[in-house]
Amino acid sequence: MPHSETASQAEVVLQGIGVAPGVAIGPVFLWQSGDDYVVERSLSEGDTFAEINRFEEALIETRRQLLEIQSSLGRELQSDKDASIFDAHLLFLNDRDLIEEVLIAIQNDRINAEAALKNVSRRYMDTLLAVEDDYLRERVADVKDVMRRMIRNLSGEIVSISDSLTDKCIVLASDLAPSDTAGLRRDTVSGFATDLGSPTSHTAVMARALEIPAVVGLHDVSKRQWTNETLLLDGTRGLLIINPTKERLDEYGHIVEEREVIRSGLSSLKNEPAETRDGHAIVLSANIESASDVKSVEQYGAEGIGLFRSEYLYLTHEDSMPSEDEQVAAYRHVAEALAPAPVIIRTLDLGGDKFASAIALPTEMNPFLGCRAIRFCLKMPNLFKTQLRAILRASSYGNVKIMYPMITQVDEILQAQELLVEAMDELEAEGIEVDRNIEVGAMIETPAAAMISDSLAKHVSFFSLGTNDLIQYTLAVDRVNELVAYLYEPTHPAILRLIKQTIDSGHKNGIWVGVCGEMAGDPVMTPLLLGLGVDELSATPSAVPLIKDSMRKVTMEDAESLARKALSSESAGDVLALARQLIREVAPEILELTD
Ligand code: PEP
Ligand code: MG
Repeated sequence: MPHSETASQAEVVLQGIGVAPGVAIGPVFLWQSGDDYVVERSLSEGDTFAEINRFEEALIETRRQLLEIQSSLGRELQSDKDASIFDAHLLFLNDRDLIEEVLIAIQNDRINAEAALKNVSRRYMDTLLAVEDDYLRERVADVKDVMRRMIRNLSGEIVSISDSLTDKCIVLASDLAPSDTAGLRRDTVSGFATDLGSPTSHTAVMARALEIPAVVGLHDVSKRQWTNETLLLDGTRGLLIINPTKERLDEYGHIVEEREVIRSGLSSLKNEPAETRDGHAIVLSANIESASDVKSVEQYGAEGIGLFRSEYLYLTHEDSMPSEDEQVAAYRHVAEALAPAPVIIRTLDLGGDKFASAIALPTEMNPFLGCRAIRFCLKMPNLFKTQLRAILRASSYGNVKIMYPMITQVDEILQAQELLVEAMDELEAEGIEVDRNIEVGAMIETPAAAMISDSLAKHVSFFSLGTNDLIQYTLAVDRVNELVAYLYEPTHPAILRLIKQTIDSGHKNGIWVGVCGEMAGDPVMTPLLLGLGVDELSATPSAVPLIKDSMRKVTMEDAESLARKALSSESAGDVLALARQLIREVAPEILELTD
């Protein structure tokens, strides 16, 4: 275990929210989001002319890109109204005063174009923020967006976090977008900690998928004066320890060893069936974010994919959308690797906290309640159909199923199915064989969907409960807001009743019901979900051995009795205590790993 260089400095222990388990020790790397990460370079007098040319070329290229996106968006939306959101971007790029200011800064201050642009646009943004006008204040996001695009066109690329690192570090940031997190690599990032965030934000989900220990909700940790401190990050307990003492490091040495012993013991379950002690079997699958995650699915012994979050293909695709062929390649890779096991591809779930740079979504006050997921796809039929065609083409290489996110009404399923049939007709007309009987499911992640699950069940082959959203929408708790994270309770009786209602509706209509939200990845919740009657659980790959352990240690009788008590309980705390009590009795090693 490395020694703290600053052991003489006082140790500081900060409590946040642990969102991805594991311990990391190392130096700090303070990350400021892309637009701030601009290095200022001094120029010699003779270089300023070339620098001005470089700036003007980037300006032309940026205008060209924006006009192109605007016109393709206009075609897609069959209306210029939504595409006009780029007008503000173009206005900013055509602002002579601003351009003059940048040119003067390059010339007089003799600094590089990126730094000059950043300084000038910062001043613009400050001025806009100071104005008592909501419309103008909202334009700050546009200025930021254009600046980012300009900087990318100037430097050729935006520096990703992992690319900025040479040694292994713990990354500190105010917040990380899901697309930033998706670019983290374990060879350079041993853990991360952020001011904002909560356990079911997509950034947290991504950290667990990448198996990078993470703590969020540390309020203003990124604003501290950081020098050369060493950090110890405990993603299981949600601790960030600055300048850990020698005793602390020794203590963690033991903790890590003990957890390792338990974990390697659980790896022997890999080929054991996912069933209760008395032989009640369910399907235990994995959630993945990218095609390359398929390795961990096999490593941890999941039976297939219960949720492939396809939007990460779009999030990690800089400046353009993945083509149909690129999508086919990704889906096919997963389908082939796991065949004949099922692979459920969830159609594009953009919006909320996930934004792709190539797809301009309108700025919304409440993006989680706005144009997200299926709503967005139904507004963009061509984009959606490209994805459906890709899934259909990939389906001939394995056992592929389709799942629609964020359903609130039957009509959304009917409209999506119409587009699916159109995609099938097109492919057949092109001579490509398609499976007309491909299974289609609905995510149940809004209270509306759970309450009309009896109607929805007549139109799909399966349900998968997206508890992450179901909890936020039912309890009115923003899933990414650390200030209300304490109210985000999966065991709230309202959630349990909606889950039960969905399972009963599914079963009455002869379809299976799974859970793919993070609740399915918590081994303490496994007996409760089994007792409520789920047929499938799908979780981040590394959680699969723990869920299997939990399942194999309980009987269905224990699980059903827990579910009965839970359904008549009055508070989330009571249910959690009952669930933990059962685990303490039958599988105490799980609490050692998760507490
Ligand atoms: C969910 O909402 O539970 C879910 C699985 O979808 P996502 O986390 O991607 O919103
Ligand atoms: Mg969801």
